[in-house]
Amino acid sequence: METAAAKGLILVIEDEPSIADLLRLYLSRAGFGVHVEHDGELGLAQVRALRPALIILDVGLPGADGIEVCRRLRAQDDWTPVIFVTARDDEVDRIVGLELGADDYVTKPFSPRELVARVGTVLRRTNGVAGSAVLETGAIRLEPASRRVLVDGREVVLTATEFDLLAALMRRPGMVFTREQLLGSVWGTAAYGGSRTVDVHVAQLRAKLGDGSPIRTHRGVGYSSAAS
Ligand code: CA
Repeated sequence: METAAAKGLILVIEDEPSIADLLRLYLSRAGFGVHVEHDGELGLAQVRALRPALIILDVGLPGADGIEVCRRLRAQDDWTPVIFVTARDDEVDRIVGLELGADDYVTKPFSPRELVARVGTVLRRTNGVAGSAVLETGAIRLEPASRRVLVDGREVVLTATEFDLLAALMRRPGMVFTREQLLGSVWGTAAYGGSRTVDVHVAQLRAKLGDGSPIRTHRGVGYSSAAS
């Protein structure tokens, strides 16, 4: 059920066959490869298997719902761009409020042409961010491939955990992460260590990065990386 992926593969997780078919048609006409899943659990498995360029994710799904699918991806530090498709306006508030790192959303009924345009916009905006592209914020340069961090051109030696924590924050400049989200994405489980672990590592990271540290504290919420 896949078509050639000239402009990248889009994974559509949508249980309504008529909408899934329409998306397949418009996306493949626009030059994208398309793979469709009708169930949240199966969709999640295909994200890992196919490494799509972007996911179009319905909120109301059998298996795991769209919000759960996105939460589990982000908890594994998978930042594949997601465009949510929702049936109701009140779901939009939930998607935005949960800070799932949704890149965009559309409300049913939507124009397939409009959704394809948004896919192009999100891909342009997020290109390289989810992968191994070098991240730069102010004086800080983070190189995922070599796992090096430079401050004003000088290398700073970080532990693996400190590096992963900084990368998680810098991949989404300006986005505020709760301690629980950071535990999930950096340490892999929210049950391990507790939120104090995050504070301790942030403090160590700041000490190493000095005045150039991009990490901002949001009292009562969590941490973010400065946008520039
Ligand atoms: Ca649905």
